[in-house]
Parts: sequence; structure tokens; C-alpha cells
Amino acid sequence: MATVRHQAYNDVLHRTPKHVEFPKKISEVFGENVFHQEVMREYLPENAYKSMMECIQNGTRLDREIADQVASAMKDWALTKGATHYTHWFQPLSGTTAEKHDAFFKPVGPGRAIERFSGDLLVQQEPDASSFPNGGIRNTFEARGYTAWDPSSPAFVIGKTLCIPTIFISYTGESLDFKMPLLKALAAIDHAAVDVCQYFDKNVTKVIATLGWEQEYFLIDKALYNARPDIMMTGRALVGSAPAKGQQLEDHYFGSIPERVTAFMREFEYESVRLGIPVTTRHNEVAPNQFECAPIFEECNLANDHNLLLMDLMEKIAIKHDFRILLHEKPFSGVNGSGKHNNWSLSTNTGINLLAPGKNPKSNLQFLTFFVNTIKAIHDNADLLRASIASASNDHRLGANEAPPAIISVFLGSYLSSVLDSLEENIKKGKMTPEEKTALKLGIGKIPEIIFDNTDRNRTSPFAFTGNKFEFRAVGSSANCSKAMTILNSIIANQLILFKKNVDARIEKGDSKDEAIFKEIQQMIKDSKKIRFEGNGYGEEWVKEAEKRGLSNFKDTPSALKVWSKKEAVKLFEDLNVLTKREIEARQEIEYENYVYKLQIEARILEDLVQNKIIPSVIEYQNKLIENVKGLKDVFGDNFEKAADAQIKLLQKISLHLNKMKGYCDEMLLQRKIANKIEHMDERAAAYCEKVKSYFDDIRYHADKLELLVADELWPLPKFREMLFTR
Ligand code: ADP
Ligand code: MG
Repeated sequence: MATVRHQAYNDVLHRTPKHVEFPKKISEVFGENVFHQEVMREYLPENAYKSMMECIQNGTRLDREIADQVASAMKDWALTKGATHYTHWFQPLSGTTAEKHDAFFKPVGPGRAIERFSGDLLVQQEPDASSFPNGGIRNTFEARGYTAWDPSSPAFVIGKTLCIPTIFISYTGESLDFKMPLLKALAAIDHAAVDVCQYFDKNVTKVIATLGWEQEYFLIDKALYNARPDIMMTGRALVGSAPAKGQQLEDHYFGSIPERVTAFMREFEYESVRLGIPVTTRHNEVAPNQFECAPIFEECNLANDHNLLLMDLMEKIAIKHDFRILLHEKPFSGVNGSGKHNNWSLSTNTGINLLAPGKNPKSNLQFLTFFVNTIKAIHDNADLLRASIASASNDHRLGANEAPPAIISVFLGSYLSSVLDSLEENIKKGKMTPEEKTALKLGIGKIPEIIFDNTDRNRTSPFAFTGNKFEFRAVGSSANCSKAMTILNSIIANQLILFKKNVDARIEKGDSKDEAIFKEIQQMIKDSKKIRFEGNGYGEEWVKEAEKRGLSNFKDTPSALKVWSKKEAVKLFEDLNVLTKREIEARQEIEYENYVYKLQIEARILEDLVQNKIIPSVIEYQNKLIENVKGLKDVFGDNFEKAADAQIKLLQKISLHLNKMKGYCDEMLLQRKIANKIEHMDERAAAYCEKVKSYFDDIRYHADKLELLVADELWPLPKFREMLFTR
């Protein structure tokens, strides 16, 4: 009888690429489903358009009448795109995006209806959202939370729905989402960076953080996906022996993209571009069936919305092409996992990238200021940055010799390292002589605009300078980047505020402005030295070296999350007005909860696979062997043992692994029951991490041995070679 696995495999062999013909050139459709500035200009009366621009650029409030005009324009435009419904699109702490659709259509009398959308509905909504995670902020009896429009990210139409990006807050004003703290962190860094820019250029009145993410993912055929309950329910294979051929030949990386995959990529890219997401890059990644796509960078909040949208689009369009997309950080052990590099920089209203070396000494001093402040911020707040990327799924990747280590360090490249070293060497007590100042200026002036270092850049660093931006590489592929971006922008805002204070104090004491800045930069270089690392981040030696330097190495999520309980962490976010203590506590609680639930689900599925899939097929094979041994006994009589030697040994091996696997499974179940009784979530998470998760590898070890022993035709689950190499 054909098993589910065999049917699935058969389906895959008959697939053909589903190429879609697109009616227009990609440049013609860019942003066509977005209510962007040009559309607003067309649909809005002039005064409303002006207010709207003010509101987008400076965060000013729209008055009610204007909001009505904007809503009406949005609706008229959306109707031309075939929209029938609208939704507030938001990012609850569950990690995905959420939407609740309402129709534009309103009956206004017997047999009469109109399409209606008012400013009230645009600006604020009250989804019945009592079951979104809130970490105790909302008791169910005061379960009202509401969504509020984020005008800085434009509305868009997907399918037949007008989607309005919104924040999600509790009735008492606390944030229940990822977007609100990000917006606040972006405002904080705007203010802090503008203040510092004023030392160099009075024309700078606005600084935006920029984000360019690179999304890695796996594709597997949907029939094989459906035959793997573990991948379906957890996003990763909980068992499965690594294929004989993995990624060791590195023949997949940058190789030609398979036809079926190209057809999928073309379609999701086309749809992304229509939504204004500037995706331009696609290629194979290191592991078989692993790919990457990246857009041109954008303002951070918009870039993050675009990433979330893209992940959603990819999932939907993959299914149309008979694929399933796996955004999990480590779907298959034995081959590389997936990350999402976050390229980050700061850019001014005067068109300057603050992390790009400039044309002259003055602009280079500005570059160095932001560059060194960033390093100092990472040095002082490495634990917060580590916490920002912590999740049950990313734990598989960080420090697994294929991804940045869980130890946070900064890579600068040899050129800039030597610049900083020489600046530090030149630290002088007291006032600088005019010659010293000139020498420093000359030294700084020599920094070339393009640093050739980035060609040999280090790929093993979690936070690397890559010529004109930093690249935060430890972010997980399934993550909402706003967690990492909220923290990164906050700690740098905090550092810039400190910097300004110190420089002003030096000026007060009689230093010239340049001198004060120089000295402060030198001090920061000295104080942040231990976070800089240029060597191989994947090596064992680094772990030892980092420990010597006193750098943290939080290997798992429960220990990484502890930083949120620290007074200093709370103070930093409260001072910046990014998160309150209550919000931080709620978030921490939710993160622990998420961790526990993820592991609980994985453990249950693993128990289920062992009990209901693997054991039955092993027994079936055992029975075949037993039948065979019995038959041999009939034929050979007393001499059968020699004839049945291989079968008997195989039976013994199978029994051994079967018993071990089942034994560990039972023990894990027991530990799970104990952990589930622990009341405090942080302690329960620690128990899941230390007492439950530890069985995963043992169970898997024996399950994978059995996979290699049991007849291929009886094995119930699609194998890695089928999932990773069939197209
Ligand atoms: P890689 O070799 O890692 O692919 P690239 O130089 O191609 O490096 O850039 C990767 C990403 O960095 C792209 O998404 C790009 O848009 C982004 N990027 C470039 N400049 C900036 C910047 N100033 N701010 C943020 N992201 C940027
Ligand atoms: Mg990169």
C-alpha cells in the first residue's frame, strides 16, 4: 500500500513550473497598489494634501475634517483597485500580522446602500482582540484594545482589501504590539542624532534610521510538507537523518535557480513591487533549497512593514506554486539555517549617510562621531541587543558554527580598526596643541570615501561594519525586525544623548568644539575596546577569548531574556519614552510564554511522531524480519543462526534504538508534566530549556538511526533528500 509519503513523492515528480505572464513591465507597476504621495496629491484637495504631508513628515496631528477627507480619498482610490473591504493591519505580540476586515458597504435604507469610510474609522478601531498576548496588561474584563493609524506607513490594497498600517494599544494606553515602540525609538534617535548633527551642520533637522533586510528562506514541496506533521506544526523537522549529500559541495550557493522556484520568485516579486516593496536581489543560499531575497533599503518603519508584508505574500504565493515556504531559523539540522541580516544606518534630511565616510575632514569627523558612538552603544548594551534576537527558533542558529555567535561583538575591518587604534594612542592629557589638532584632523581627513576593506569582510561577526552601514546579522529569519530595530535605535539614541552631554560639558570647561568631540571620541574608543573583534566568530577560541574579556554569552532564550529585569534596562527605555516598566514586564512575560509554548508544541509533536508514526513502521519492519528468520529456521533447521546472522543482528540493533527512543520519550513527557506545574513563566521557561529540550537530541539520535535501518518503503516520513533535492 502506498503511504502518504509515497503519494507525496509521486506528486512532486509530476510537478511542472507554473510560469505566470505579467501584463506590464515591473517598472510600470511599482507601487501601483499603494496610497502613496502621488496618489494623495491626485485624490486630495490641496489643503488636505499639505496637512497630510506635514503629518507624515513631522508627526503633526490631522484634524477631524482632514481625516475625513483622507479617508474618503483612500476609499475612492481603493474602490478603483477593486477593494470591497478595509482593515486595520497591525502587529500583535504573537509575532504575525493581524487584520479584521470590514466592508465599505453600508445599507442606508430599503434596497439602498453606499460605500462609506470616515475619518473615525480610519484613525481608530476597536478590534475584539482580547485573545492577543498582552502579558497581563489587559485583564479580560477590560479587554478593550484599539488600533490607531500610522500615517507614516502608506495604506495599500491586497486582493480586495484596503490595509491601513496601525499600532495596537490597550485601553490604558500601553503598547500591545511591535510597531509602537519602534516608532518611539525612531523618534528618539531622530532627536538625539539631530542634536549631535548640529555640531557639524545646522541644516540638519531630521535624521531617519534606514533598514535594508535580507530575507533567507527554504522552499519545500507542499505535498512533502503535508506529510511531515512536525514541519507543518513547528516549521522545522524534529527528526530526519541528514542526507548523504548535504551542502558540502557548495554547489547550490549562487548556482542557477530551479525553474519552479524562479516561477515562484517572479510572481512574489511582481506582487511585492506592486505593493511598493523594492525587492531587487534574489539568489540561492548555501543549503540545498535555501534562497534569499533583499530589497533596496528604506526608512526603518516602512522597511519593517514591507518585510512583514513580504513574508505574508511569500507564504501565499508559495502555495500557488505547490511549495511551502519555511521561514524558521533552522528547519533542517545538518544544513545551514536561515537568518535575516538587518543592514542599518542613519540618514539626514540633507541627504547624508551618517555612517559613510565623507569627502573632507569635517564630514569625516561627523562620520567618526556616529561610528564610534554606535560601537560604544553596542559595548554598553550588548545584553539588550542579544535579548532582541532571542527566540526558541533562533536558539538553534546562534553559535551553531554557521551563524553569528550568541556573543555580541563588533567587526570594523582592518582599516578602521587601525584608525581607531591610532586615535586612541594619541590621547593626551590636558589641552591639545595646535599641531596635535592638525595632525588628528589630517589623520581623520585621510579616511577614504570608499573603504576597500568591505571586500574581505568578516561574515562571522554578529554586528559588522560594511563600508557605509552596520549589518546586524544575528536576527532570525522568522523574526519581526522591529524587536531588533527598536533596541538598536534606542541604545544608540541613548548613547548619542550621553555623548552630547559630555561634549557640552567639555566645551563648558573651555575646550573648543572640535577638541571636545575629539576627546570624547578618544574616550569612547578606549572604553569600548573589548567589544571589537576582527577574528573568526565561529571558532572555539573566540568563546574562550570573549569569556576572558568579560563579554556575555547567553546560549539560550531564557537566560538572554533576564536582562529585561535589570533596573538600568528599564531606565534606558523609560528615559527615552520608548517603553514603560509595565510594558517591559509584559513583553518579557510574553517572550517567556512564547518560548514555553513553542517547546511544548515541539515536544508534543515529537512524542506523537515517535508513538504514532515511527514505532508502528519499525514494528512492521521488525515483523518482516521475524517472519524471515522463522522461514530460515524452517529451511536450515538447527543451522539457521548462521544463515540469519544479519537479520538477527539487525533485529537486535532495531530493538535497542526503539527501546532507547521510547524510553527518552517517556522521560521527556514526565519532565514536561513537572515543568507545566511551575507557576512563574521565567522558571517554567528555564525548566523547558534545561529539562525538556535536552531530550530532543537523544530522541532524535535514535529515531534517525532507525530511519537508516528500517526499509525505505516502510519509512513513514519524507526524508531530507526528498525534501531538499526534489523539485
Ligand atoms: P550583501 O553582500 O550583504 O548582500 P549589499 O551591499 O548588497 O550586501 O547590501 C545588502 C543590503 O544593505 C541591501 O538590502 C541594501 O539595500 C542595504 N543597504 C545599503 N545601504 C544601506 C543603508 N545606508 N542603510 C540601510 N541599509 C542599506
Ligand atoms: Mg548581508
